[in-house]
Amino acid sequence: MGCGPVSDRDDFSQKVKEALARRVGFACSNPSCRQLTVGPEEGGEGAFSVGEAAHITGAAPGGPRYDPDLTHEQRSCIDNGIWLCAKCATLVDKDREHYPAGRLREWREWAERGARLALEGVEAPGVVDRQNDMELIRFYAQCFDREAFQQPFMGERSVTDFDRAIEDTITAINTGCLRSRDGHVLAEAKGKVYLTNPDWRDKMDTVVDILRAIRSRYAEAIKSKEVYVASPQPDGQQADWIQPELGAWMDATRAQALRLFGELCEAVNVPAPVFPRPHWPF
Ligand SMILES: [Zn+2]
Repeated sequence: MGCGPVSDRDDFSQKVKEALARRVGFACSNPSCRQLTVGPEEGGEGAFSVGEAAHITGAAPGGPRYDPDLTHEQRSCIDNGIWLCAKCATLVDKDREHYPAGRLREWREWAERGARLALEGVEAPGVVDRQNDMELIRFYAQCFDREAFQQPFMGERSVTDFDRAIEDTITAINTGCLRSRDGHVLAEAKGKVYLTNPDWRDKMDTVVDILRAIRSRYAEAIKSKEVYVASPQPDGQQADWIQPELGAWMDATRAQALRLFGELCEAVNVPAPVFPRPHWPF
């Protein structure tokens, strides 16, 4: 596909823009939008478009999600593009925190898959498939079934393990693949982008945003020494030091994520994870 530099802004060629639009059937790739972006020109013979070939990582320094490690060719290549309606293109560039590059790649993958299925007549896009969503939510509930979501933060023996567990949970919800620490696949389903009910998908996005916030807060706490990681003891146990205010924040934030997720569980009749687990001896 015609990848190549155009100016100091690494814009897409016309050919790349067209390919991006065609690969998703000219519909916006935001799963919560799916707005058609082309239509007939009123009173004329032509067609008009309200779609945009948006950059996943910015076209120029300072742009949204700009990645300085990419070459000019990579930045203007089709792999770095996503087809969006004008409204969603503005939205993802304004609210950069909420729409990182990874989320846009998920959208593109989902939209391309949807376009292919629609072409094959397998599945009408935009139809809510309750059975599908139920199975996915049941899988996500399994992802929360781990110590990091059961006990108060002050009771963590190793905060490093805690942070990894949160990271693994985010990955499992995004990719639909739950792995143990050594990479062994424990369970497989599909990532949250495959939820067909848009309200539930939005809710799962928010749950993951909260989990990301927990990881950022943890990274900050390490820097500001609100948490101190002890070296492993001879018996293999670690006992890290944690500032109580940080513990309270972590617990409240985790409870918030699980409360939100619990609403989805309730909607599909799956037992919701509760935090902290009732039999925790605190
Ligand atoms: Zn849109």
